[in-house]
Amino acid sequence: MKPLEQLVRPNILSLAPYSSARNEYSGKKAHVFLDANENPYNSPLNRYPDPLQLELKELISEVKGVKAENIFLGNGSDEAIDLPYRCFCRPGKDNVVAIEPTYGMYKVCADINDVEYRPVLLDENFQFHADELLAACDDNTKLIWLCSPNNPTGNNLNIEEILKVINKFEGIVIVDEAYSDFSRQKSLRSELAKYPNLIVLNTMSKAWGSAAIRLGMAFASKEIIELFNKVKYPYNVNLLTQEAAMKILDNREDVSKWVSMLLQERAQLMEAFKQLPICEKVYPSDANFFLAKMTDAQAIYDYLVDQGIIVRNRTRIKLCNNCLRVTIGTRSENSELIGALRQYK
Ligand code: PMP
Repeated sequence: MKPLEQLVRPNILSLAPYSSARNEYSGKKAHVFLDANENPYNSPLNRYPDPLQLELKELISEVKGVKAENIFLGNGSDEAIDLPYRCFCRPGKDNVVAIEPTYGMYKVCADINDVEYRPVLLDENFQFHADELLAACDDNTKLIWLCSPNNPTGNNLNIEEILKVINKFEGIVIVDEAYSDFSRQKSLRSELAKYPNLIVLNTMSKAWGSAAIRLGMAFASKEIIELFNKVKYPYNVNLLTQEAAMKILDNREDVSKWVSMLLQERAQLMEAFKQLPICEKVYPSDANFFLAKMTDAQAIYDYLVDQGIIVRNRTRIKLCNNCLRVTIGTRSENSELIGALRQYK
């Protein structure tokens, strides 16, 4: 890896970050707070939340086995996807490399930040080859985006190839593990100490059943987390989100139950799809969704919409011609889907 100072945008390296009232006084001893122009009425919503979410990070630290200083929390993982661009990529000059197909926000954020996006097509098994990704890089490549399990393909990426990229690339490698709670593959967040150029993303939106609260996580070296904290909006995670997240982290048994029910349902639903005459192929999945190649994805999608059932039509995505992406629902939702598909003519 190049020294971090060489990777960070010069304006970010020299940035004097905004210092909020709660940054300047964060102790709990005081009882009169007249420093932040808040309204003294309407407690507890009148007060700004902890800008660094320390109590929540301590809890996440226990659950995820990563030190609090190696955790960044954001407004969904989408915030943690945007920040590496803002920290590392000089608009109009730098570029990033990513697998294709993958989660669409990596490219949208590249476009917003005026950063060239270089997609490298996966093979027919939806796997990538480290050497191909590395060959797409040049001196101005700052980031490589990997997603495992990958969206929309559903599969884990080959771990040896991921490690090869992390070991050989001079810049930052981001591995989005939004769906890793559904997979048996070990999370890379346990390897952070070994790889200073690694950022691992995670979210409360999937296995944790909390997409509405918008809480995403990035795990990385202390230096990278400090950089993110410098650039983020001062109060990026609101109080209601911090409280709701602590509650769900306390109810960990519910989450394990949901995951095992969804994995059982996934096996049944994939099997039922394989039996459908209108389904040509079901791709293996390590996530809470799977991709299925249909005889006519658009017509089947439209038919399901008429029945009030919405799946994701991915037919226009590269390598996903005629594919529908199906999220695993409850047993009754999944039965309704299969029932409707069996009636399709
Ligand atoms: N990463 C991946 C791979 C995703 O599929 C999604 C959402 N579909 C996200 C990140 C965004 O998650 P969040 O709700 O935390 O912004």
